[in-house]
Amino acid sequence: MIDFEAIANPGIRGLRAYDPGHDLVALRRAHEGVLVELGSNENPHGPSPAATQAVLETLSQLYRYPDPLGGDLKRALAARLGVGISQLMLGNGSHELLMQFAQVFAGPGREVVASQFGFAVYALAAQAAGAPLRVVPAFARGAAMPRGHDLDAIAGAISPQTALVYLANPNNPTGTWFGADAFAAFMARVPESVIVVVDEAYAEFADAPDHASALVLQPRYPNLLVTRTFSKAHALAGLRVGYAVAHPDCIAVLERVRESFNVNMVGLSAAQAALGDEAHLRWSLARNAEQREMLAAALRERGYFAHPSLTNFLLVEFGPETQRIEAGLIARGVVLRPMAGYGLPECLRITVGDASENRRLLAALDEVLA
Ligand SMILES: *Cc1c(COP(=O)(O)O)cnc(C)c1O
Repeated sequence: MIDFEAIANPGIRGLRAYDPGHDLVALRRAHEGVLVELGSNENPHGPSPAATQAVLETLSQLYRYPDPLGGDLKRALAARLGVGISQLMLGNGSHELLMQFAQVFAGPGREVVASQFGFAVYALAAQAAGAPLRVVPAFARGAAMPRGHDLDAIAGAISPQTALVYLANPNNPTGTWFGADAFAAFMARVPESVIVVVDEAYAEFADAPDHASALVLQPRYPNLLVTRTFSKAHALAGLRVGYAVAHPDCIAVLERVRESFNVNMVGLSAAQAALGDEAHLRWSLARNAEQREMLAAALRERGYFAHPSLTNFLLVEFGPETQRIEAGLIARGVVLRPMAGYGLPECLRITVGDASENRRLLAALDEVLA
């Protein structure tokens, strides 16, 4: 028998595949039509009707390859973001792009730095590239931004071996964020040769006055890469479209590892239409903010600590009973995301659902607690 583990590249040996949480297809079958899915940070308010229409309009063209340049979507993004087209790269979800950054810039002897409780893909990307990973302790549980990124400590952990730093703002799974001033101070400390990735998958949700997109600093720092996605605020997770914004020279190097038709035709046109529907986005964000506050208050009333969140999910501490609560909710057809894999076994991550989903979650929780 071939030992495939032994013949895999060193970085791949011992790597564990991304853990998507529960087998949702099996759960859907078991709870037909009534499963409450709050485990994957999907947007229950759905995509813009214009995006749905754009999907239908592509159906007669499916025998064609998609535009390998993604030109129309890139032009729309460039106009929206005030950047050049040569500063954009499209990905099959931003997950793909995050993996490619490590493939291109990190490797044996070229270290990756990321925060404790940062998004799981960063560690995967480092390991798959064969790069050492330095995990920097997050803020303490009792801090102003509990378990959030400690940018001072991250800057202090950068060494001559560091090639790449992954940050998320706001972060998943904590929901926490760092402010514009802290980030500016951080960038001033980072050597120019170190690539800083700021994953802004939830940026559209972030409405706190101290939050700012890293894009504002990009003209000053060519080593700064920002990723965004259509999966969360734009509610197009099923179509897999994300993008990176970086210096044109950086994009040119990254483009070498991009699979030529990585973003499909349906995704390209839906994303472009979604981007054009500002009103739908605002409506969706307002629903989320209102439901998030409602849900956080309801959980607080029940004695649970919800981390501050500028996203469409809450990281909630359920204590030593977490596993029992999670199992009880699953049995009642409510799916949350267990956090043991992140080193937070006493927490669950709850996607903010629509009003009816949140009501059903709270009703099921009260049953489990009774
Ligand atoms: C969901 C998520 C992504 C990945 O989104 P894609 O669907 O691959 O675009 C990236 N980063 C964070 C922090 C996320 O939560």
